[in-house]
Amino acid sequence: MRLTRAHQPAQQARDYSFGGGTEPPGPDRALAQPVTVLRGVGERRAQALARLGITTVEDLLLHAPLRYEDRRLRLPIAALPLGASVTAVGRIGNASFSGRWGRRRFSARVEDESGWLEAVWLNGAWRGVAAKLAPGARVALYGKLEAHPRRPGGRLLFHPDVELLKEGDEELPQPAILPVYPCGAGLSQRLLRGLVRQALARCAALLPEVLPEGVRAAYDLPGATEALWQLHAPALAGEEPLGEGWRPAAARRFLIEELFLLVLGICWRKRLRQGEPGISLPPSTRLAPALLDRLPFRLTPAQERARAEIEADLRQPRPMHRLLQGEVGSGKTIVAMLAMLAALEQGMQAALLAPTEVLAEQYARRLEEWLGPLEVPHALLTGGVPAPQRRRILRQLASGACLLLAGTHALLEEDVEFARLGLVVIDEQHRFGVAQRARLARKGRGAGGAARLPHLLVMTATPIPRSLALTVYGDLDISSIDALPPGRLVPETILLPASHQSKAWLRLHRAVAAGGQAYVVCPLREEPAEARSPRHSAAARQLVEHLRGVVLRDLRVGLLHGSQPSSEKLATLHAFQEGRLQVLVSTTVVEVGLDVANATFMAIVDADRFGLAQLHQLRGRVARGGRRGVCVALASEEAGVEGRQRLATFARCSDGFAIAEHDLALRGAGEVLGLRQAGLPALGFADLRRDLTLARDLRGCAEGLLARDPSLSSPQHAALREALGRRWGDGLAALGSG
Ligand code: ADP
Ligand code: MG
Repeated sequence: MRLTRAHQPAQQARDYSFGGGTEPPGPDRALAQPVTVLRGVGERRAQALARLGITTVEDLLLHAPLRYEDRRLRLPIAALPLGASVTAVGRIGNASFSGRWGRRRFSARVEDESGWLEAVWLNGAWRGVAAKLAPGARVALYGKLEAHPRRPGGRLLFHPDVELLKEGDEELPQPAILPVYPCGAGLSQRLLRGLVRQALARCAALLPEVLPEGVRAAYDLPGATEALWQLHAPALAGEEPLGEGWRPAAARRFLIEELFLLVLGICWRKRLRQGEPGISLPPSTRLAPALLDRLPFRLTPAQERARAEIEADLRQPRPMHRLLQGEVGSGKTIVAMLAMLAALEQGMQAALLAPTEVLAEQYARRLEEWLGPLEVPHALLTGGVPAPQRRRILRQLASGACLLLAGTHALLEEDVEFARLGLVVIDEQHRFGVAQRARLARKGRGAGGAARLPHLLVMTATPIPRSLALTVYGDLDISSIDALPPGRLVPETILLPASHQSKAWLRLHRAVAAGGQAYVVCPLREEPAEARSPRHSAAARQLVEHLRGVVLRDLRVGLLHGSQPSSEKLATLHAFQEGRLQVLVSTTVVEVGLDVANATFMAIVDADRFGLAQLHQLRGRVARGGRRGVCVALASEEAGVEGRQRLATFARCSDGFAIAEHDLALRGAGEVLGLRQAGLPALGFADLRRDLTLARDLRGCAEGLLARDPSLSSPQHAALREALGRRWGDGLAALGSG
């Protein structure tokens, strides 16, 4: 999917992003003007444009066409091909309104020597058109040619664009190749084209040359102004039809500019961070061995590798900034734990942030089990912690008496302060925005006088291909746990249509009879967890009732849903973890990090409604303890072709990296990677997957540039610096300097 450019007003190029310097907002204020300076743009249209991410004249100029319409080819009306977008030139035979109120239509017959066709407008779309089309007028109509629904052999253009031609005028009005833009309610292609034209005439020449000379030369790119005209008003000689997906050569310039600004920003962020003083932590020699001794397993080589990479980072007197990615169930938690022990052993504190209360709670139990015997003081902080207890925890944190704090978003609150924060670990990092990460990292600052940033370890179970990760998360170093612990069996995945769900319940009974436990995941549409008014879709609720009351009546079933009070949720969860419940029917899918070794069965109802990565995460809940597992994906009645294909891929594929690849292909990189969450600018021209090699090459250019001119302070880079700030807004500083 394409994303439109994020709205980032020029004023946001604040000086702090650039380490000092408060130049005026830049060479080209005209570009930064709001779209309302254009003729024809009032409040309403400005709002419609804003929904496309367009607020300034520059945004409009950089609004990337989706495709182009070729209006050069002229054929006699009789020879125009059905089903194609065509240009019909002829004379109006007759034109009239027909039909009653509400169903009124305007139709015009257009003829030339070879034949005729009919043009039709409904619903008031004739406004501004009907008056032009008097009988005898010469016109050019553009639209998609369809078979006439009522007249055999007749042909029809529905809501075509109209140009009135002057008498004796043989040439079609220019331009003959028209851009087609992403458009939205309250706007039309015609309007957008007109506005872009206006903006071009007004400001195209002002567009600063952002790309350094070297990059332009290396890729043989035209200058900004020339490229802009070509982008919006391409001129082509000849009549060779445009191929599928044709774009003017100059469009590449903007793609490269966009990618270059992306990778340059990433490199900038990395440099900022590397300049920060950190806390050098030697590996743990007391706590870690004591913990490892008591574990019932040994670390896998993949875990050992990740551990070593992290330890090497922690030793450095600069803050670590590492992503730990690994397949579901690959054992990331223990690796993160060992990292935390390095901090704790030095008397530094560690914070562990989880996306949900349930996961935070699970961590707390793990900590209790692992740290209890080591006598490391730790605590759990969630929204559900009672006030007196919360006050006590905060006091102990501020005094340094509590060394390890696990919890949810509650950790981010203003009054949570650490005395000596040495390491921050964030699980399921994509669930947190870049600002939240930075907020947590800053909690160690000020207190204790040490203006040093803690180390940061973020984790994800949605691994993405390394090359892509390096580009997008280019300011993070990456460790991958690419193998599961030995003896782990990949769950068998079975696809069933909803009509065959009784088979799923049969397998569920069998799994439970064999001593296992089972999950049933039903996607109900729910309010956010905080809201107390569930709005369950009736069908799904019925199913839950049916399961509890009939199908699974003989089993001990617990129910988890988003609008439950958290105490109830946690009680249910404990009961399931301790084996007191045999089946957990869950209507939320947030609890992806759950780790219950005895679970061997999962049914996912309406599985086609989930994304691939999510399905894979869910499936990762079973077969964690070395036993066989089964995952049944039930397709809903309404599953479309695309949903079925997704399920087929899911069933076929059990490797998280491969799943991620498919997911990227299906949803596009912007969606999958959560570019906005990661604090990266949205992309209008580039597609990270398609343009990966290009991005990597450009990264080389960007690094070279920053090596020569680290703060981009030379005058020839002024425009680039300006553009960087404008494009990235706050994202540039947020992560790096905390
Ligand atoms: P994830 O990477 O999905 O967060 P966890 O850290 O929750 O996975 O680990 C999944 C399960 O595997 C846990 O029960 C953990 O104790 C267990 N585990 C971790 N490392 C190993 C190992 N080397 N050998 C066997 N089991 C392991
Ligand atoms: Mg996990």
